Amino acid sequence: MVTLKKIEKKIGVIERYAEFLPVTTKTPIISLNEGNTPLILAEALPAEIGLKNVKIYLKFEGLNPTGSFKDRGMTMAVSKALEKGAKAIMCASTGNTSASAAAFASRCGLKCFVLVPEGNIAKGKLLQAFRYGAKVIVVKGNFDQALELVKTITSTTDIHLVNSLNPDRIQGQKTAAFEICDDLGDAPEYHAIPVGNAGNITAYWMGYKEYQKAGRSGRLPKMLGFQAAGSAPIVKGHPIEKPETIATAIRIGNPASWKGALLARDESGGLIEAVTDEEITWAYRFIAEREGVFAEPASAAAVAGVKKLAERNYFKPGTTIAVTLTGSGLKDPDFALSFKDELIPVEPVLEKVKKIIGA
Ligand SMILES: *Cc1c(COP(=O)(O)O)cnc(C)c1O
Repeated sequence: MVTLKKIEKKIGVIERYAEFLPVTTKTPIISLNEGNTPLILAEALPAEIGLKNVKIYLKFEGLNPTGSFKDRGMTMAVSKALEKGAKAIMCASTGNTSASAAAFASRCGLKCFVLVPEGNIAKGKLLQAFRYGAKVIVVKGNFDQALELVKTITSTTDIHLVNSLNPDRIQGQKTAAFEICDDLGDAPEYHAIPVGNAGNITAYWMGYKEYQKAGRSGRLPKMLGFQAAGSAPIVKGHPIEKPETIATAIRIGNPASWKGALLARDESGGLIEAVTDEEITWAYRFIAEREGVFAEPASAAAVAGVKKLAERNYFKPGTTIAVTLTGSGLKDPDFALSFKDELIPVEPVLEKVKKIIGA
């Protein structure tokens, strides 16, 4: 008789990094084996942007169970919500938070309500929320307005907030910094990341600091945050009422973790800058067409930012840059198909196919 061995390896981020997280043996762990995403060495990018003797690693968060880094925070937020006796959770979302919330809620029988801004959510994310069984409410407004509504509802009812204002989200998300240190043997000199609601840059900085303090890494990286030019409140120094960008995941005019982003920037000696939609689009195509890594437009903002800084000779030789690619390119099929790609029709005839491929 064959007996199947129980998988005993520590797999989800809570199990792997429990000593760094606010969990106890009583916390019910709701996990989809999130995290443990690959750190991929960029082969073509450094030379393309004129970087000699600098290594760029792509932390591909698109390979999380729902296709974005949001799963790291959601496993924590949902586990803690359950521990506190929650029956329902709620979030405002540009898409990925709702997909992740819906998945983790479905796994443990919680009700899930998501508020998304009308017209500015990528199709892949919306269909995930539906398929995981969430109630999807479309707000005729933008993300910032949806978040205000969610804040009011969750503070006046027993529905649990799972936006990154919930500190458990940030706790879970910091595990990505731990993984990078574990993979590289130390923190990188620089860490580039897109900034929307600014929870993730806050989380990474917290993670790098905690790991160093615990003696698990030696140095701290400079945090390099990038917003889209049409929705760059932190760069401009004031909220943006009508944020615009093709990178819908960072189309946010009044980031909830604004202060956390400034702290990460200033304590680390880094910077937060803006990149245009054209620069984002270039980076989006380059990493897919030349590195074989298909990430969504918001993720590409970080690559665009690295290119921009490289052109200013910002990076010291002999250093390492980690770049968070926050979500999968499959999330946004409309953007992916917005280029002039051509299908080449042919009859099933050998000679005709050979002619097309020049063989
Ligand atoms: C949520 C998200 C971001 C922005 O992260 P913040 O924590 O809101 O700054 C960037 N890219 C993708 C793909 C996201 O889902």
